[in-house]
Amino acid sequence: MRAATASVAGPRVEGFAMRRTASCLARAMHGAAQRAGGVSPPFRPVAPRRAFAAASADDTSSASAWRPAPLEPVTSAYVHLPFCRRRCYYCDFAISVVGDGVESDAVRRGMEAYVDRVCREIRDTPLAPSTAAAAGKDWPLRTVFFGGGTPSLVPPDLLRRVVDALRARFGLAPDAEVSMEMDPGTFDRAKLDGYLRSGVTRVSLGAQSFDADVLKLAGRAHTVQESRAACAAVAEALRDAQAREDERVDAASSDSAASKKRRKFSWSLDLISGLPGLTRDAWRASLAEAVAFSPDHVSVYDLQIEEGTPFGKWYEPGVGPMPREEDSAAMFRDASRALGAAGFEHYEVSSYARAGARCRHNQVYWNSGRQGWYAFGMAATSHVDAAAERVARPRKMRDWESWVDAIPPLGATWKTDLENASLKTGDVAAARASALMERLMLGLRTRDGLDLDALAAEFGRSVPDEILAVLAEQPEGLAVVATRDVERDAADETFSFSSLKNQDDERDERTSRLAGAVVRLTDPEGLMVSTEVISTLIARMPSLEAL
Ligand code: SF4
Repeated sequence: MRAATASVAGPRVEGFAMRRTASCLARAMHGAAQRAGGVSPPFRPVAPRRAFAAASADDTSSASAWRPAPLEPVTSAYVHLPFCRRRCYYCDFAISVVGDGVESDAVRRGMEAYVDRVCREIRDTPLAPSTAAAAGKDWPLRTVFFGGGTPSLVPPDLLRRVVDALRARFGLAPDAEVSMEMDPGTFDRAKLDGYLRSGVTRVSLGAQSFDADVLKLAGRAHTVQESRAACAAVAEALRDAQAREDERVDAASSDSAASKKRRKFSWSLDLISGLPGLTRDAWRASLAEAVAFSPDHVSVYDLQIEEGTPFGKWYEPGVGPMPREEDSAAMFRDASRALGAAGFEHYEVSSYARAGARCRHNQVYWNSGRQGWYAFGMAATSHVDAAAERVARPRKMRDWESWVDAIPPLGATWKTDLENASLKTGDVAAARASALMERLMLGLRTRDGLDLDALAAEFGRSVPDEILAVLAEQPEGLAVVATRDVERDAADETFSFSSLKNQDDERDERTSRLAGAVVRLTDPEGLMVSTEVISTLIARMPSLEAL
């Protein structure tokens, strides 16, 4: 498992941040909003929301009548496999430490019991309301993500049980993306092939650093040599798997569409910047080594010090041996530059992908206004109903076990406090503000940005105006308003914020210029301060006042 992302309160969006509940993120972002300012580049002081009262007046009625749009049928699932050999010094995830006796019978029995319960949870989980309502068509899972913990401590046969349980309950598309987090030093080629035979198509390898001292200071359980061996093994195994798959599809003579669906095998190499003792030179060397292994995807997380961890006791952000704030910023720019030059698209704050290799599962999290996901296992958080709270499973093993044991068998009435908690009348304003905040928070993390038409349709016409008004007062170069449907900056038609100032008498003209436009943060300067941009929006937008 990984460290925290560069610019958002929740760590690791790839499978992780979303394991924290939306309300947790909301609280964190709201707290950040109170602390906005003092970042690099400096943000303007937070002004009162009253400045935009006129702009939002026409939305009062729509705000009170707001209801969340239903989700699309749910076709994604997250499974938490919480076992780790030991706890890294920066980690506050929900894990179960098994020590070095991973191969022992006792550890095997513990994992079996956990997997059995996960399978029971899968079996007894009802379909998401949107999926159940879309009768007459199958909605098999299209993405699955095994996160942890260190999922690669779990033997392949146990992983297969979970895949089989998912397939039996929801179906699994023939070309589904099935991701799995793996750590160096926990698998060999035979074990890796076992995972691929069990259905895994995408490996997310937590190398974190190619500097031996940095790994040691972080308390990682693997060495640089193990990282190098793991990168080589994963690259080779995935290449071989793709060749076999291509051969199979090319040879498929049957008319069955399913047999012609081509699975895509790929891998991600994950690094952490901002670790104690990490110098710019060592960071650049790690980036260069990562590129040399030719992964399809690179994730770069900037360490956040969490309370209650050893790092939380030992270190202060920005104070040695932690990198200074300006060094952390420089490392963010280094990653953007090095990976961009190597042909990776910086499609999310922490995520870089070669063409066609974005993580499909994580994109579901970033599109949570329209898409949901099932979740299974200790501490996992599901989102299956736009009109209900997310469900965060207990973070302690015993509590989670009791939680699963209390799920009624499928067919019985499914009424937990949370899963069916509908919006109460008095909560509409807060629910609307919370949904809007999440849209801003997730949209601004991504290359795809915020779709202004979609926001206006969902939250009211004043919302794009509010966003543009706040961003227009911020330093130049952090955000752009651009035409939608573009993959590269070179193809963008961008508008300056000053030309879009909120003048009522020019509203019609502005509205027509903005048709089909998106707002997104620039790479790297805007993405680097995404938390501060979002915090400022939260502090200043009238539509978010109910938070
Ligand atoms: S390997 Fe385990 S202890 Fe280390 S960061 Fe990942 S989840 Fe945490």
